[in-house]
Amino acid sequence: MADVVAPELVVSFHYVLRNNEGEVLDSSPKGEPMIYLHGAENIVPGLEKALLDKKVGDKLDVKVAAADGYGERVEGNAAVPRSEFPDDIELEVGMSIMAEGPDGDAFPLWVVAVSDDEVTVDPNHPLAGVDLNFEVEIAAIRAATAEEMEHGHPHGPGGHHHH
Ligand code: ZN
Repeated sequence: MADVVAPELVVSFHYVLRNNEGEVLDSSPKGEPMIYLHGAENIVPGLEKALLDKKVGDKLDVKVAAADGYGERVEGNAAVPRSEFPDDIELEVGMSIMAEGPDGDAFPLWVVAVSDDEVTVDPNHPLAGVDLNFEVEIAAIRAATAEEMEHGHPHGPGGHHHH
């Protein structure tokens, strides 16, 4: 039984995320904690760092500067012809899509505008440039399975369901 948060452990936690003005931006649904594999960059770096060594039941307030959260905002809006997207994708403002860079690395882009012939994509996460204030309670800690380690994310309730 794992006592404290450490790499190779799957951690569940409840959270409320607020901006510096105190507005709630996001939260885990009641009774459905967020689950992640520690050390696998499943969550923003500043929060992952703060949860290290914490134990079940610990409650903490974590302030994460934008740079350690979803990053600072960068330039790079681009309009892409609608025809470059597969026909079967329903494009909506706010959704993220995976693009492939010149080196073959996949990276996310966010759709910020859609017209009949053009889609405007932005490299900024919607929360880029925003300082994040997390209110966290650790709900559970367990060892990761070999399969979870291989995939780099947790499976089961609250985790990925892709197989
Ligand atoms: Zn998986």
